[in-house]
Amino acid sequence: MKKFYIIFSLFFLVSCANQSNDELTIYTSRQPQLLEPILENFYQDTGIKVNLLSGNAQELMERIVAEGKQSKADIFMTVDAGVLWQATDRNIFSKINSFILEDNIPSYLRDPDSQWFGLSKRARTIVYSSDQFSEGDFSSYEDLAHPKWRGKLCLRTSKKVYNRSLMASMIDAYGYDQAKEIVSGWVANLATEVFSNDTNALKAVSSGQCGVTIVNTYYLARLLDDPKYDNLQLFWANQSGRGVHVNISGAGVVKTSKNKENAQKLLEYLSSDSAQDFYASANKEYPVLKEADIANSIKDWGSFIEDDINVSKLGSLQKEAVFLAQEVGYK
Ligand code: FE
Repeated sequence: MKKFYIIFSLFFLVSCANQSNDELTIYTSRQPQLLEPILENFYQDTGIKVNLLSGNAQELMERIVAEGKQSKADIFMTVDAGVLWQATDRNIFSKINSFILEDNIPSYLRDPDSQWFGLSKRARTIVYSSDQFSEGDFSSYEDLAHPKWRGKLCLRTSKKVYNRSLMASMIDAYGYDQAKEIVSGWVANLATEVFSNDTNALKAVSSGQCGVTIVNTYYLARLLDDPKYDNLQLFWANQSGRGVHVNISGAGVVKTSKNKENAQKLLEYLSSDSAQDFYASANKEYPVLKEADIANSIKDWGSFIEDDINVSKLGSLQKEAVFLAQEVGYK
């Protein structure tokens, strides 16, 4: 893995030195191996070479701002609408008018001002231990606040943007006070300290430390490759109400890009049928394009009703979500 990064960075330095109009650079917090095969196809189809600069989303945003007009970034690509919203707030993106993007990506999965676009869907839902519970025991995120779940719930920290976005969706749906009551119920039901990541929360459910958690489904898909975790069961939350909380990975064209036309072409390509089949399934996520295939390993989970709140609200309500978590002591 390390070797890959070294080769990659050399490649990047060389390619940046002579970047031509037929090259693009993506600053991304996504793992390069999720993107490289599609970018190679894009190169074969268009002759446009794409360089990747990977890193932490916050640092990459800082870098784009600091580099200003000198920045090599043509596209900023990251995960979570909360982060994409921040990029808009920092004036990083330029607006794109594209019938292709509007056609391929449902309106609730893109910025209302067309500055960024969702490229895959990430569902965050309930996972329980089949050693302790069955499907009929569950209904919604809100129900996990009921005292019957006391000592049974495991959660990832509220500091992770995924949970801030989930809380933001509840603030939008029910208002601040009711959302606060729900999250406060979750905190009261915690079996143990919050976890630093979804995988550890899942392992705690599997081992019986708790009985239920809320995670992004691709983490479950990865763990289920190991039969040791066979007792983990997915439950699609809120199917008789507003639907499962859905977030995105996505991207936008950087304001200072000198190759906006090609950058737009690449985003359009990533939203197309041929790229969507691979882009979403590489990380066991869901495609934004309706017609695209989903990964075989997650087909058994079937289809689900999703919350169609515009994902930009997950960003605009982020500050309130942070405040709410502090108020109820959700660490
Ligand atoms: Fe993740």
